[in-house]
Amino acid sequence: MGTGAVINGKLVPVSGLEVQNFLDDPRLKLAPDDVRPRNAREQAWIHMIVVHTTGGIPGGKDLRPQVINPGVGPSSNAGERVVGSWTHDSTRHGGAHFIVDFDRSVYCCADLVTEAAYHAERANGPSVGIEVVQSRSAELYQDQMDAAVQLVLWLCANMPTPIQAQIPLPYQGKPIARFVESQDLATPLSDVVGVVGHRDLTANRGEGDPGNAIMDALATAGCERFDFEAGQDIVTWKQRQADLGIAKPDGIPGPATVAALKATGHANGLWMLAPGNR
Ligand SMILES: [Zn+2]
Repeated sequence: MGTGAVINGKLVPVSGLEVQNFLDDPRLKLAPDDVRPRNAREQAWIHMIVVHTTGGIPGGKDLRPQVINPGVGPSSNAGERVVGSWTHDSTRHGGAHFIVDFDRSVYCCADLVTEAAYHAERANGPSVGIEVVQSRSAELYQDQMDAAVQLVLWLCANMPTPIQAQIPLPYQGKPIARFVESQDLATPLSDVVGVVGHRDLTANRGEGDPGNAIMDALATAGCERFDFEAGQDIVTWKQRQADLGIAKPDGIPGPATVAALKATGHANGLWMLAPGNR
């Protein structure tokens, strides 16, 4: 059984996915040191989705390549299992809003609006975190990745302020300098809108968090690739905002830009993806 994601205390079904959540099953609730309330400003505009793998392979000392198995994998009881591993690891904070298991099951472990999960340090405040389960032998499954992509696109269209479905260029072996340098606690990543990998935010993670396969699948599904390092997103959006008639284009597709997109035929407020997610 699954009833959906939790957005501002409300259960919202996710089209095409079975989503079990912490309101239905308290074992999915994150421990108090793995999650915190978002403050009012954070709640007002959540503008990033950060994608992870639980194994982060290849990364650190484990440089085995990811193995993408065809089809669907077995359940690993990932919701209870992964939340439990975060809870019992008192040496570090860990948590995410979603866990995607090998069998396409999705687990929602925190409220997308009112709670910030501890998955990406200073990006926690403005972001939703998704952990894609990776086995000890570095395996992922194709259907699992498809489910993760479906979840990302649904979130882009269904967050209170829709998040533009835009992703970085293929990974260059290091985080994107703009994301790291702009990690100022007062205004964390306030000019970044879109879907990024954990590896794009920090040098502490390697290529496999989340790996090229997932990011490439997002591109194939219609996400727009930008050279964030060079500010291509800002330049492109300034032009789009000017075309939309926005008085002071700032290059950041926030709530006013989404409203202008909706008013000009982009029914879900997204530039790239039509209603129904595509
Ligand atoms: Zn990660």
